[in-house]
Amino acid sequence: ADLFESPDFYNIDDLLSEEHKMIRQAVRDFVKREISPYIEDWYEKAHFPYEIVRKFGELGVFGPTIPQEYGGGGLDYIAYGLMMQEIERGDSGMRSTASVQGSLVMYPIYKFGSEEQRRKYLPKLASGEWLGCFGLTEPDFGSNPGGMKTHFKDMGDHYLLNGSKMWISNAPMADVAVVWAKNEAGRIKGLIVEKGMEGFSAPEIHGKWSLRASTTGELVFDNVKVPKENLLPGADGLSGPLQCLDSARYGISWGALGAAMDCYDTALRYAKERIQFDKPIAAFQLTQKKLAEMLTEITKAQLICLRLGQLMNEGKATSAQISLAKRNNVEIALRVAREARQILGGMGITNEYPIMRHMMNLESVVTYEGTHDIHLLILGAAITGIPAFK
Ligand code: FAD
Repeated sequence: ADLFESPDFYNIDDLLSEEHKMIRQAVRDFVKREISPYIEDWYEKAHFPYEIVRKFGELGVFGPTIPQEYGGGGLDYIAYGLMMQEIERGDSGMRSTASVQGSLVMYPIYKFGSEEQRRKYLPKLASGEWLGCFGLTEPDFGSNPGGMKTHFKDMGDHYLLNGSKMWISNAPMADVAVVWAKNEAGRIKGLIVEKGMEGFSAPEIHGKWSLRASTTGELVFDNVKVPKENLLPGADGLSGPLQCLDSARYGISWGALGAAMDCYDTALRYAKERIQFDKPIAAFQLTQKKLAEMLTEITKAQLICLRLGQLMNEGKATSAQISLAKRNNVEIALRVAREARQILGGMGITNEYPIMRHMMNLESVVTYEGTHDIHLLILGAAITGIPAFK
């Protein structure tokens, strides 16, 4: 894997700046050094390597588009995308840690937070001193987050928060949780809940066959007193969390591409080396068909990512455009993983190669941040003007 080359059939590199390529190389080197040698072991043990949080902070992958005065990188969205691509080439769970911290915790604090909240939280989250999580999904409200039950009451000098969240990435180790909850008027608001607040716990969810190196938990709020200064003043209604999801889904579009590239690269190498019937299996037309289709899908997905990145930089990307990218790229990554696994024959199911792990990871990625079908319905609504999911 240390000879990894990302396929670039359409010379997309020519459209990147020198800075983009340097950033990609730095993250690629980091992944090779700090993730790839250990990931199979972490995965097998379902171990979240907490020390990666500080290392990610030093590398600068947390909130790269946030201005530098708050500890962010002040970079553009293409740089952010390339970072997610390279991390997910290593592992989708590691990329999830970075996506959540940057797009789902730092982004809402930057976008909707007060100046004091920005100064208090963002530098520590950027450096990896603190880990954050994002609580939107509930046990009974996944695709329909607007139905959430978690709520808070104004008690005069503080808020009283009750309810629970489910499937929350980073939760068991998080210092800070951005939690979406309804106020007494039924409006969705964002609250910053901190580890150690009385009545707040984050039990781990066990038994995942996917994203095993990422830690996932519940968030339980039992009469948690949240200081009033922890309410995000700029967020009102479901559009608050949805704007965060747009940013994260954009990163996932690039990330899934990284997983696809790793599967393609692995399968191509294997096909050239593996001999059957006295020939490398790459010599057979059926293998070539698989490889040609993988490369075609990867190339199309790269172009989607790059153009979407330009639109993000200009502040013009729509939620539906982001849905198309997330949906397509995760779907093609899953298909590439499945075809790549077949090229490896029996070896494809082992942890000698990354393919089966990518495939299992992508089964979460296709569901979280809006399922495959929900993104299709978002596109359907954008096309027809008629939302079909309600
Ligand atoms: P459901 O909403 O119950 O959906 C089940 C099925 O029904 C899906 O196939 C769906 O497409 C389909 N469906 C639902 N409604 C419709 C409809 N109207 N029309 C057609 N089909 C429909 N959430 C967070 O808030 N923060 C996190 O950090 C986070 N991390 C996660 C990490 C992992 C590993 C996983 C697995 C999930 C995570 N999630 C997180 C939750 C994730 O976003 C939800 O799982 C997802 O939104 C789907 O919700 P659900 O699982 O309740 O499925």
